Amino acid sequence: MIQIQSKTQFTKAIERAKKERMLVIMLRFRDYSVLNRSNGRRYVVMFEVVNGKKFGTCSCEAGSPMRGNHLPMVCKHLLAALTVHTALMAQRNGH
Ligand SMILES: [Zn+2]
Repeated sequence: MIQIQSKTQFTKAIERAKKERMLVIMLRFRDYSVLNRSNGRRYVVMFEVVNGKKFGTCSCEAGSPMRGNHLPMVCKHLLAALTVHTALMAQRNGH
């Protein structure tokens, strides 16, 4: 689980995401399916809010490393889903 704090976390992910086409589909509130059209791989991205802090989880390896103690990275899937999620939230709030 990655805490979403600032846009600087996404700099590298934005660079990677530019090279590939992502298709984001909403599964249910705060859950998204992200399909990488470049290679056909699909991942699930989930967002949650804990104590007013935003967190995101992706099912890919970069988003949820299984071993070692390195911190999970913000991946391009999380970025793609967050872009859609932010737009949806803005609509809901009437901004
Ligand atoms: Zn990912």
